[in-house]
Parts: sequence; structure tokens; C-alpha cells
Amino acid sequence: MNKHQQFASDNYAGICPEAWESLAQANQHHALPYGEDEWTRRAADAFRKLFATDCEVFFVFNGTAANSLALASLCQPYHSIICSAHAHVETDECGAPEFFSNGAKLLVAPTAGEKLTPQAVRSLATSRSDIHFPKPRVVTITQPTETGQVYTIEEIKALSAVCRELGLKLHMDGARFANACASLGCEAADISWRAGVDVLCFGGTKNGMAVSEAVIYFDTSLAGDFDFRCKQAGQLASKMRFLAAPWVGLLDSGAWLNNARHGNLCAQRLYDQVAGLDGVSVTFPVESNGVFLALPEAVQEGLRDAGWRFYTFIGGAARFMFAWDTDPALVDELASDIIRLSRAHQSA
Ligand SMILES: *Cc1c(COP(=O)(O)O)cnc(C)c1O
Repeated sequence: MNKHQQFASDNYAGICPEAWESLAQANQHHALPYGEDEWTRRAADAFRKLFATDCEVFFVFNGTAANSLALASLCQPYHSIICSAHAHVETDECGAPEFFSNGAKLLVAPTAGEKLTPQAVRSLATSRSDIHFPKPRVVTITQPTETGQVYTIEEIKALSAVCRELGLKLHMDGARFANACASLGCEAADISWRAGVDVLCFGGTKNGMAVSEAVIYFDTSLAGDFDFRCKQAGQLASKMRFLAAPWVGLLDSGAWLNNARHGNLCAQRLYDQVAGLDGVSVTFPVESNGVFLALPEAVQEGLRDAGWRFYTFIGGAARFMFAWDTDPALVDELASDIIRLSRAHQSA
């Protein structure tokens, strides 16, 4: 990497100081293993405080495990899970939700935009009720979506109302949940349990930690045996305190939100400089920490030659993601490279 940072993903960033400091503190003494320690208790309490409610909290190593084990806990093998077309569970988890649920099927609901809608959920969930079709049991939404759109409080409430009416549970993939909170300026509770979310996977990795995602059961009756499920799946950390302590640092200091705000601001910073350029189109509304740009092939090549890395796996658009540590000067450098290359391409 010839740049000191890259924006291909927000998981290129390292560990933020608040998480690092808590890790160092947790490293000073011995502690009980498997989550029986003080750090794990403090982290779970910090979540209960943040969400202002009683909830059951578990820590796993990554988002794929968090999502698939949470979904598996809501399903029997003959059930189905409604998701959107670009849902990480559908496109980027190597079949783990189906695997860990012993066969529950993901059903992609067709929608015009990136978000699931109540209508799409209703029509898919009620399309069949015969014994030959996997019975719909869960709806999963990603907040913000894989392309950076943020569900509003009202949108989540409308989805959960349909879920309740149809006997479905509502799961939220919050790999970037903090970015959604920062974007909406709302309380964490407003877009989770108060809006009807039953289980939330709250991402720590992209928020500034090394590893660790929190699986949070707001409906605590659904959390039974989840610890056994984690153990069986190889997701029960024996030195659990190192998955838990960084959360204490992030949540107690407010860094979780500041980190997300910074990523969102950097996305806006890039957007402000490149929106409206001839030959460049912003393919998704910029509402969190990512920007997707449809660029001519020659411009993409030019950017790669200039040392930039980016992915084009969603609809061919170049994706740029910003993290807690993004250097705004480098965002400006990227913007000026895009501007220079697009102008050259337009006049060629
Ligand atoms: C990054 C991400 C995850 C988690 O991915 P892992 O690589 O398994 O940690 C889950 N959902 C979304 C939307 C993501 O972007």
C-alpha cells in the first residue's frame, strides 16, 4: 500500500485509542474465562445503559457469526428469513446463516431501492402458506444498508408492525449501527427496541475495535441457550475479556459515536467534492460512511495507477468507505485525483 490509508473498506483501519486503552487495562491482571469476568459484565451493563433497557448481550468474534447465530436462534430448519438483495447475509456470508440454522432458507424480497419495505415483506411472507414452502419466520434488515442508506425510525416501526402482524421476528444487522445513530442523531434505542427490533448485531470491528460484535437480545426470551450455540460454533472466547473490554472503552467514552460521526463526515466530504462532476455519478444516497461512484473504466484505472484501492462488487460502482481514523487530507487527495482523472477523460 503506497498510501498511509486506503478506503476500500472501513475494516482497513486499526484499533482506536479508547479500545486500545481498555485492552491494555484488561491485560494487567488475570481474570475468569468464558465471560465470567468483570469486563464482560461491565460491557453488557454499558449496553443496557446505552439502550436504556434490560437486554441480554453476547460477544462473538465477527459479524458473520453474529448474524448467522442470531438468525439461527430465531429459526427452525424449516423456516425462512426475509432479506434484501444486497444483504450481507445473502451475498457475503458463504451460506453461514443457512449452515448454522441447519437449513433455514434466505428469501430475497424484491424491492426497487436498497431497503426492505413493509409491502415487500408482506407480499413475500404471504405469497405461500402451504406446507411445501419454508415458513417465513424472521425479517433481517441492515442498518445502514450495505450501500449506506439509513432506515428512519418510522421505516423501522413500519417494518416491525408488519412483522408483529405476521408473526415474524425482526433482526438487525448493525455492522455499522453506530454510523446509523450518528446519521440520524437519534438515541440507539430509537432505531432498535423502541422501533420493534428483537435482536441487534452491533458491530465493533468497523467502529474501531480489532474484533468483537455484540449480539443484543431486546426480547430476552429469545436468548435462551444462545451461549451454548456460540460455544458449539467456536465463537465462545475463553479470554472473553478481550472481546468485551474494548466495548467498555468505546461506550463509556462516547467514542463509538464520535468514531462513526467522523466516518460519516469524511463520506460527506468526498461527496461534496465529486458530486455533479461530468462523467461521475453517485449511485446511492450518501447517508453514512460510504460513497459509491460510477466511474468510466479509464478513471478507475487512473485511480488504481495513482495507488488507490477500491472494490466494485456492487453494480460496478467504486466503493469508498471511511473509518474512525480517516485522514481528511487523504479524502481531499482522493477527491482531487477523481476530479483530475474525470476532467482528463472528458476532454480526451
Ligand atoms: C462487515 C459486515 C459484516 C460483518 O462481516 P465479518 O467479515 O463477518 O465480520 C456484516 N454485515 C455487514 C453489512 C457488513 O458490512
